Amino acid sequence: MIRKPDDNKKRKLTTASGIPVPDNQNSVTAGERGPVLIQDYHMMEKLAHFNRERIPERVVHAKGSGAYGTLTINHDITKYSKAKIFEKIGKKTDCFLRFSTVGGEQGSADAERDPRGFALKLYTDEGNWDIVGNNTPIFFIRDGIKFPDFIHTQKRCPARHTKDPNMMWDFWSLSPESLHQVTILFSDRGIPATYRHMNGYGSHTFSLINDKGKRVWCKFHFKTNQGIMNLSATQAERMKGEDPDHAQRDLFDAIERGEFPTWRFCIQVMSEEEAEKIDFNPFDLTKVWSHKQWPLIEVGTLELNRNPVNYFAEVEQSAFSPSNVVPGVGFSPDKMLQARIMSYPDAHRYRLGTNYQQLDVNKPKCPFANYQRDGAMSQGIGGDEVNYEPNSVNKAPKEDHSYDEPPLDLGKVSIDRYDHRKGNDDYTQAGDLYRLMTRDEQGRLIENIVSSLGNTKKALQERQLEHFYKADPQYGERIAHALGLKINSSAKSGTKKDIKSGVK
Ligand code: NDP
Repeated sequence: MIRKPDDNKKRKLTTASGIPVPDNQNSVTAGERGPVLIQDYHMMEKLAHFNRERIPERVVHAKGSGAYGTLTINHDITKYSKAKIFEKIGKKTDCFLRFSTVGGEQGSADAERDPRGFALKLYTDEGNWDIVGNNTPIFFIRDGIKFPDFIHTQKRCPARHTKDPNMMWDFWSLSPESLHQVTILFSDRGIPATYRHMNGYGSHTFSLINDKGKRVWCKFHFKTNQGIMNLSATQAERMKGEDPDHAQRDLFDAIERGEFPTWRFCIQVMSEEEAEKIDFNPFDLTKVWSHKQWPLIEVGTLELNRNPVNYFAEVEQSAFSPSNVVPGVGFSPDKMLQARIMSYPDAHRYRLGTNYQQLDVNKPKCPFANYQRDGAMSQGIGGDEVNYEPNSVNKAPKEDHSYDEPPLDLGKVSIDRYDHRKGNDDYTQAGDLYRLMTRDEQGRLIENIVSSLGNTKKALQERQLEHFYKADPQYGERIAHALGLKINSSAKSGTKKDIKSGVK
């Protein structure tokens, strides 16, 4: 843990090697006017280190804020999971949570219309469990092979180096699976007022495994106890100018004041048998599981109660990965999850180095032992112990098959590239969300969409309108009206007849 220095102790200025520095104001020169001597090693080290202060920023989720806290279990879910974290009511586990925006650079404003990252590291007794989600239960795409393409549309265009709504709407209008998340993004919840006033979701489908080896599928939800609060488009524009770091400031100050934000931790559970029978793919990241059919089950309370001491060491260098699941929690076939299992640790190895898990914020708090050795910036983990396996050393770390997961029966499947857009209903859930909104909320959704889509080429607008129309004819008509366009007749004939249009 990084500690604050003791204010009352006088401390000497030294080089990084601990050698006392006689003068930090004047360089060593030959004569009063210079030149400077290369033997002024303190100055050389100071400048050289300064040149190396920056590391590559994250390609996505570059701007973030983080804090430590605890997860306390309030309800017994041991019938679903044998994970030690759930073993008894009242159990507390330390954690670190990093919030972020997605598309902007490290210096970008916190008030952008953008999903918010919600990445939680739980330091459990059997290793670090990372739930690396967003403030939305779904995402724009369902196959990881599309991730770099999608993110390129959210970043700067190659020649002008500006953001370009044509790139975004070109991609979205050709990727109807994005419609559900686009509807959330342009709704009131597209710009949370602060990180404290939004929900978090594990987003993917994961599995829980109990002590009898029984698996269920599961979704993770963190419901804010501060209440949902959002910024309107106008408020956000002003905030970006007045205080681009408002969400960082808000989180840090609230914790400093002792106003600790909390979230209700809940799960949804689906049996393996149900997953076989339902009429949508429960591993599709663009879909939610209806709360009515799979009600939220209470698990515990997440509280953030301690600020980091050093932003760079603890927030910038914190590294999360959906690959970090602990015994009692497992993956699912979700194609996006599978891609992230590879790509997140890969990003950390590139950005922080191969030993990123030895950094304080990333290190497990439980004992850990393996045969990984050396590499850049190794902290010597493993010491003088045997570094190969099998070996005949009694106390050397050994595998333990009691942690084996039950096999997952996929039936008879063929390896292929399956068209994930074929036969998939990309419209019903997006329409459900539209219909769940009040007339006023729908009005603001439409205004927000038009203020972005309205700046794109007409052909893109027409293509995207068909998607809105298919989700709900009224949704499409109202946007078309605001854009001064007409819905294509082919879109009308393709609409599902059973979808009721309107407001709640
Ligand atoms: P429910 O009525 O049971 O749940 C609706 C959910 O929508 C609530 O969790 C609510 O969050 C959330 N919500 C309300 N307004 C917005 C908004 N503007 N943006 C994002 N979420 C919002 O319905 P269903 O479970 O049948 O789902 C209907 C639709 O609700 C879905 O198509 C999906 O778009 C959305 N939704 C569903 C979630 C789920 O896990 N089932 C989770 C989040 C959204 P809160 O309770 O915090 O106010």
